Amino acid sequence: MTDAALEQAATNPKVGAFLAQNRKNLINNEWVDARNGGTFDVVNPATGGVIARCAASDKSDIDEAVKAARRAFENPDWAAMPPSKRARLIWKLADLIEANLEELAELETLDNGKPFSLSKMVDVMSSAEAFRYYAGYCTKIEGKTVTPSNPFQQFHAYVRREPIGVCGQIVPWNFPLLMASWKLAPALATGCTVVLKPAEQTPLTAIKLGELIVEAGFPAGVVNIVTGFGHTAGAAISSHPDIDKVAFTGSTEVGRIIAASAAQSNLKKVTLELGGKSPTIVFADADMKRTVPGLANAAFFNSGQVCIAATRLYVEKSAFDSVVEGLSAAAQAFKVGPGMAADTRMGPLVSQEQHDKVSAMIQAGLDEGAEIASGGKRVGNSGYFIEPTILVNTTQDMRVNREEIFGPVITVQPVADLDEVARLANDTRYGLAASIWTRDISRAHRLAAQIRAGSVWINCHGASDMSLPFGGYKESGWGREMGFDGIEAYTEVKSVAVAL
Ligand code: NAP
Ligand code: MG
Repeated sequence: MTDAALEQAATNPKVGAFLAQNRKNLINNEWVDARNGGTFDVVNPATGGVIARCAASDKSDIDEAVKAARRAFENPDWAAMPPSKRARLIWKLADLIEANLEELAELETLDNGKPFSLSKMVDVMSSAEAFRYYAGYCTKIEGKTVTPSNPFQQFHAYVRREPIGVCGQIVPWNFPLLMASWKLAPALATGCTVVLKPAEQTPLTAIKLGELIVEAGFPAGVVNIVTGFGHTAGAAISSHPDIDKVAFTGSTEVGRIIAASAAQSNLKKVTLELGGKSPTIVFADADMKRTVPGLANAAFFNSGQVCIAATRLYVEKSAFDSVVEGLSAAAQAFKVGPGMAADTRMGPLVSQEQHDKVSAMIQAGLDEGAEIASGGKRVGNSGYFIEPTILVNTTQDMRVNREEIFGPVITVQPVADLDEVARLANDTRYGLAASIWTRDISRAHRLAAQIRAGSVWINCHGASDMSLPFGGYKESGWGREMGFDGIEAYTEVKSVAVAL
């Protein structure tokens, strides 16, 4: 190999062995190199070192994967598999994920940067739960009989719910395994087949998941995993004429490109989970002992690289100073460091590019007149670390209050006129989530109804459950994942009428 040596980052020997081999694509249950022989480097964001190499796939690899997925979709091994057997396979995959907890979590931490404990508890364990939740649905996907209303003709009619077909799934780098699981689980539960592309920044856990999918015993071609870049492999998925549906999580900008190429190619169905600029509203009567740590977590969890991150905080004026003070103290107590260090509370940003982008947004805020209440600086000289950052003295029209930052940066604004707060919260092109902190439960419910967003939390932020539909209003996306909405997103509805 002429490439430079890999950084020896792993603590677990199994992880070391996984990283040492060039990782291939999973197509038709076989591990294959990209047809053009290309690879790309996978970077550890805590150091900037290269820890692995993966297949840099292009359109021809996606074509092969789609052919395999189409054959699998039509093959009775999968198409005629009884739902209870499908459920068992999916449940077995969940068990395998749990059995490989340590290995998956270390891969996620080395690849994405997040704290190891978070990788374990959130990314890996919640992925297993996503598969278990949807395993239960396999045996409960029902059509219905209807009562025809036509006075001129008699017939018996019923409605079938059928798998949508071959699905392309493009997932982001902030929760790599979990976003893959949220998408794969309902697709498998409904009997679809899949071509999945993980983000180029974080492909490793999806590849490991592919090994577990083969081990669980899924028939060849049901799940194909192809690594590569968005503008090549990703674009080949969204424009492919033989893919029936594309599901994407990522930026609103790329979501637009995907919707356009889906429309132009074959009008494949599209679901999009896109950006956010989630407002958080704090009233002076809130239980501040719980609220302030809750706000810090809502803003800085996963280094703020969360689509639902609390980014615009509106505080009733009389509580403004104490909330800024409490939040600053909480931010300063966040231990920033490598994800594999035991005391780390916040890891690095995922890439140099993301570090540059977040730093530029903080600077844009300062240029427009914002002030730093806490943080704002790079941490260390290697890796992509940044301090949890609180900006005050901002206005609605500043970029820091309009654009998604996707880093540990929150703005705090005092609100004098409480009747205005819903208007301020809704003053955004996004509509993914919001939270409300108060002891006045009537006010909380009234405000929840006024917020134009797919999720609203009261006295918490980011509470997520497989049973709760998740997705965005406005430019935060199309459609919903999770719950039965997730099943609907992977099924077509067919009406059958029989003349009597
Ligand atoms: P992104 O460009 O939206 O990438 C997300 C995924 O889409 C990746 O797998 C990417 O591939 C792929 N992609 C890119 N261009 C594509 C195309 N033309 N056709 C099909 N797929 C394509 O996100 P990013 O550039 O990594 O991050 C930029 C910003 O997006 C962040 O700062 C943040 O604001 C937002 N973001 C949001 C979420 C979310 O959860 N809503 C997640 C991540 C990022 P590559 O492998 O080439 O990247
Ligand atoms: Mg990486």
